[in-house]
This record gives sequence, C-alpha cells and structure tokens, in this order.
Amino acid sequence: TFNINSIVRDSVKALKPYSSARDEYVSDGSTMIFLDANENPFDNGVNRYPDPYQRSLKAVLAEQKGVSETNMLLGNGSDEVLDLIYRAFCEPNQDNVITLPPTYGMYKVLAGINAVENREVMLTTDFEPDVPVILNAVDRQTKLIFICSPNNPTGNSFKKEGIEKLLESFNGLVVIDEAYIDFSGQESWLNSLKKYPNLIVTQTLSKAYGLAGIRLGICYASEAIISILNKIKPPYNVNQLTQQKALQRVLNEDAVQQEVVQILEERANLEQALQNLDFVEKLFPSDANFVLAKVDNADKRYQQLLEKHVVVRNRSTQPLCENTLRFTVGTPTENKALIAILKQL
Ligand code: PMP
Repeated sequence: TFNINSIVRDSVKALKPYSSARDEYVSDGSTMIFLDANENPFDNGVNRYPDPYQRSLKAVLAEQKGVSETNMLLGNGSDEVLDLIYRAFCEPNQDNVITLPPTYGMYKVLAGINAVENREVMLTTDFEPDVPVILNAVDRQTKLIFICSPNNPTGNSFKKEGIEKLLESFNGLVVIDEAYIDFSGQESWLNSLKKYPNLIVTQTLSKAYGLAGIRLGICYASEAIISILNKIKPPYNVNQLTQQKALQRVLNEDAVQQEVVQILEERANLEQALQNLDFVEKLFPSDANFVLAKVDNADKRYQQLLEKHVVVRNRSTQPLCENTLRFTVGTPTENKALIAILKQL
C-alpha cells in the first residue's frame, strides 16, 4: 500500500511553509482596506499581489476537467511543476528517478539540478515503455518514474496496459506528462486519479491552448500530494496577468477546440507531404502537434531548411532517433511554405 508521507524529502516534512499576506483575503475590488502586504496602494491594475492559490482560474479548470480544486496545483509552466515534484519527493545525493529516453529533456536536467540520479530505461524500438526493465531498475531509493504520453519527440501515446502495470507495481510516484494530450485520441489519465494514489498528471496551456508565452502549467494529483507541493511552492508563483489571460482562454473552449481541429488537419497534410519525399525514410505516427521524420541525413536537411529560413528540431542525438527531424505543425500558410521548400531540397 502506498503512503505518500514515506517518500517526502526530510527537509520538506520538517518545513513550516511561508504564509503570505494574501492566503485568505484576495484584493478583488471590494471595499476592504488592504494594509497587509506593503504594496503601493495606488491602483494601476497590478499593484496588488495575485491570488497565491489562483482560485478563480482553478474553479473553471476544475469544472472543465471534472476534478476538485484540491487536486490541482498551478505553476509557472509545467517545468516549474516538475521541479516542485523533484524538490518535494527526492532526497539530493541519495534518491533516483527513472526516465524513458527518447523523451522530453527537462526530466534529466531537473534531476541534475536537484542532485538526483537519473536512471534511463530506453523505450522499446516501437517507442513503448519497457515495463519489465523499468521495474527491474527500481530500488528503494527510486521515487519517481516520468512518463511522457503523448511522448516528445516520438509523438506517440503509450499503451494503457503498460502504464497501469507501473502504477500498480511501483511504490513511488508515476508522473504522466500530458503536455500534448489535447491533440491525442487517447483518454487522459486524469480519469484515473481516484484509482491510483501514486499518480501525478501534468498538463500545460503552452500547447493546444496557445499560451506558451504566459507560462501556466497544471499538476493534478491526490489531495495529499497537492498539499505537500503547496507547502513548497513560491508564494506568488503564477502572476496576475497570467491568471487573467489563462482564465479568458479556458472560458473560450470553442476557440481552443477550433484551433486544435485545424492543427490536426494540418498535421495530416504535413504527414502526407513528408511521406512523398524521397529523402524521408520513415514517418512516425503522431498523437501530438508535431511529426518526427527519419531522413537520409538530418544534419544536411536541417541546414538546408535553415538556409530557407525554416527552423525545425534535429533530434538525432537522442537514442533511437538517428537522423530524425521534428516538425511542429504551423499555420496553413507556414505549412504550405514548408512543404514547397521541402519539395525543392
Ligand atoms: N512537457 C513536455 C513533454 C514538453 O514537450 C514541454 C514543452 N516543450 C513541457 C513539458 C514544458 O511545458 P511548459 O511550457 O508548460 O513548461
């Protein structure tokens, strides 16, 4: 049986969290006189500290996602959320995590920053988690397993069964990074939060919601996990402009959905065009807003595209990704331009 308190970092267990002036009362244009936070009192729209718990935004997200607000923590991008998870649950110079390359690079960087060993278990050649090898790599100091589904840079979603097996067998936290879930045909793991006390799901407004510039990431987990993360998050980690802009956007679900539909149509166009090129040897099926293609010579093709002022991502240094380029799906105009250029190479 899983007990979250048994994996909390010692210093966090002992921590008395900072309590901010605005924990309880939020300046919301009411008639209260706020003399508690040493702010400049003259109203310019942002002279007050923001709500440290982002209550208005969480209320809308909670309703849309069908989870309670007590199961959510918001951060300055999902990158901050991932860092908080390391800091809450991993003891520096002692614990380890498991990541599954080829995958999102920040899990490894954050392990390095937090002085935590990163155990890499390669995906299988069909880009699935190698569950027996992962479980074999687990020891008493293994606190986290990072699963990116849909996976960056391969684009595929992982099969449900393998992840379930990990959730059931692993006595630490399974972090499922769903940055690209809104482009996927697969069901979100959010619906399994109640079933698995060791599940953390992260999402972001940086991809489908079109808000990479405001930095808003979301962590969903049990109330017990969220309250530990709340203890260590910086008091005002999501600024007021971000909270406002995010709220506007999530309330406009139809606009987001329309853009997702367009991106998926464009992804299909791009896949078809790539498939017809002589120098493209293989196209990997995508469940995200990008496509990974194996080409004859990735360095050469990358340079050729750059000369035409198109910047793509060369993923060739990642394992199982020799000679691959990753193409983000652009606007219809951008994709047309890209395809025309690719045909000329
Ligand atoms: N997870 C994955 C899989 C990503 O690809 C990215 C962005 N490249 C992130 C997380 C980071 O997202 P955010 O902008 O929310 O920090």
